[in-house]
Amino acid sequence: MAGGILSGLNAAQREAVTTTADVVQVLAPPGSGKTKTLTARVAHLIAERRLKPWNIIVCTFTVKAANEMKERITKFVGPDCANQLKLGTFHSVALRYLKQYGQHIGLSKDFGIADTSDSKAIVKRITKQNDYTIDAGSARGRISTQKAKGIDSEQFAKTKKNVEQQEFARVYEEYEETLKASNLLDYDDLLTRCCLLLPNVEALLIDEYQDTNNIQYELMALFAQHRNVITIVGDPDQSIYGFRSAEIKNLTRMKQQWADTLTINLEENYRSSGAILHAAQHIIEQDESRPPKKLQATHTFGQRPILRKLPTAAAEADWLVAEVKRTQALSGGLLQPNDFAVLLRSAALSRAIESALGREGVPYRMIGGMRFYDRVEIKLLIDYLRVVDSPGNSEAVERIANMPPRRVGEGTIKGLHEEARLKGVSLWSMVLDVVQGRCRSATKVNNTSHTGLAKFVDVIVSAQKKLASTAAEDTPLVTLLQHIIKKLNYQDHLKKKYADDCEARWSNVEELIAQTTEASDPQQLAAMLAEGALPTIEGIERRTESVTEDALSLFLANVTLSTAGAEKAEQDGEKIQQLTISTIHGAKGLEWPVVFIPACYDGSIPHSRAEDNDEERRLLYVGMTRAQALLYLSSPGRNSQREEASMSTFLAQPGVAAYFEEHGPSIATRDVQGLAKTLGRESPSDAVVAESKRSLERDEDNYWPLTGEQPPEELAKWDRGKSNETAWSIGGMRPAAVFS
Ligand code: ATP
Ligand code: MG
Repeated sequence: MAGGILSGLNAAQREAVTTTADVVQVLAPPGSGKTKTLTARVAHLIAERRLKPWNIIVCTFTVKAANEMKERITKFVGPDCANQLKLGTFHSVALRYLKQYGQHIGLSKDFGIADTSDSKAIVKRITKQNDYTIDAGSARGRISTQKAKGIDSEQFAKTKKNVEQQEFARVYEEYEETLKASNLLDYDDLLTRCCLLLPNVEALLIDEYQDTNNIQYELMALFAQHRNVITIVGDPDQSIYGFRSAEIKNLTRMKQQWADTLTINLEENYRSSGAILHAAQHIIEQDESRPPKKLQATHTFGQRPILRKLPTAAAEADWLVAEVKRTQALSGGLLQPNDFAVLLRSAALSRAIESALGREGVPYRMIGGMRFYDRVEIKLLIDYLRVVDSPGNSEAVERIANMPPRRVGEGTIKGLHEEARLKGVSLWSMVLDVVQGRCRSATKVNNTSHTGLAKFVDVIVSAQKKLASTAAEDTPLVTLLQHIIKKLNYQDHLKKKYADDCEARWSNVEELIAQTTEASDPQQLAAMLAEGALPTIEGIERRTESVTEDALSLFLANVTLSTAGAEKAEQDGEKIQQLTISTIHGAKGLEWPVVFIPACYDGSIPHSRAEDNDEERRLLYVGMTRAQALLYLSSPGRNSQREEASMSTFLAQPGVAAYFEEHGPSIATRDVQGLAKTLGRESPSDAVVAESKRSLERDEDNYWPLTGEQPPEELAKWDRGKSNETAWSIGGMRPAAVFS
């Protein structure tokens, strides 16, 4: 058995797996096999040291990482044994523990979990009942921060200083009382309570240790009191959760607390090609405060990563998708869609990429987040646009009549909808009649609801007027959307409703505005309508002679098409091959043969709201080191507000260019065999590769001839900065649809 567990590991990795030291730290750079080693150590502890799997805790940061780890362990010890491990994210492990042993610390077996919205509602009720002036949303966030730091409400109350803090202390206390009375734990409690358990743990193993917070440290320290086996693996260069109270100090703190901590370094990278590793190293070394480290590539140099600048986000997305298709086609079957990942600094950036993928029929899945049009704040605005476009859409009217809340009773809306169905009219016409006093509905509409409905009607009607009165030259869609956003007081609504992440949500809204800005371009609109593109979209007929109203219908049709395509791909699920879209944060610990990091501009990475530039640089480093064989970084010349955007300072430093190539030599000139070797896969035969190239060259409609490394004329024009943004086409591809 041991042979199986240790085979394929180098000497340092074997030592980390088999050492009998109690406390072990493995600090090592990306791709050096930390996770592989940790997994092997779990198997070793069970198979050789005979530890009980149910007494072993293994913590990872994402569900995906946990699944992968479990799969690997299962190979060594079998599924029955692997299933007994307490393996998962910190929270899921804590939950399992508390369910099993919670009665020892006075928890009943049937405690419930207050999710984020439950706990927000509780805080809101407390502030309202007591007429506190503190903002409920921010109070909820602060409670969470205090808990992550391990400060309970009593401790906090002792340190309270000014009036505002005293008020917060009371909210915190009452919040805790409410949870207790309702037999609830919130997410933070899962960790703090688990700390109280001191369960019979024989071994605790933690992956991605650099991103642990105080409470997680406390948890670890408690286990260590009993001299259990503690193994942590991590990499200070990949610390990217400082903004969420992660404590990089936990690394040194551990060594201070346990002088006998055994530190093992791993210095060989097994993941990436030499060229990718060199480029990533060069970026992280810009941080001069960082101690130099050794890292050896085990793979050959391979292809230098690409660093490209494109005029707009839409052009960038189209280039990216074209490059995915070309690379896959040219690899002669070596690369499949699963091998590609697009990693983003912020989730809002996914919109342009999702649209381009949808249009080209490339299936994708999102990890650790929702598709752009599924995000609540976007769905609601799209529903408003839908109702402006066709008020007969009663389902949409029902969804938004009281959203954002305007005190229309839920029963009232449902009643009116039911009545409308019986009468065979639309809900909108019922609502209009009620508001304008034209009919007596059977459904009772009280005064408050009446006022609310009148406000709703005002938003829609005024928006319709706005659309009709905006000339095609005046960016009608963006004017319309901004009108709605203003009428709804939308930014305030998001602030109130989503205190924790209202900024990310507002970024999504800004991205939607950017999209309508692109879709409003009068030249593109005119060209589109002249081409007769409109009637070709199924289900959408040209209803009016008004270009602006057509524009709205077309925009919405594109949204629907893109959503439907993505949903279908999702239903087909794991059966089909899919490209991955993820934030860089969500991609931690994972790897793909081909990685794209678009939107590398100042303001995006480093992010304009980020406090710590070094953390932003580490984030870029984490993203780059996910790539095994091919890596593409790119930036549009304009940000989502259509302002000039300059290349990320991390990439604009002198000397950086030497590590990159500007124009992707298409994979046609790349060594497919070399790629296969880096990936440890069997290479397709030369004949197969040659035939893939030939067949792609024949398809000149879609792709420029693969004559060499020179970019085609259009690309060259962009690079000289003389491009005409509205008339671009990429790689000889047909101009992208107007509504990207
Ligand atoms: P990260 O810091 O990004 O989480 P990591 O240090 O956890 O990286 P792993 O994911 O464990 O690295 O390993 C990276 C890749 O290298 C994996 O594909 C793994 O299978 C491979 N690998 C690790 N060690 C070896 C080895 N000794 N021989 C061959 N391949 C290895
Ligand atoms: Mg790892």
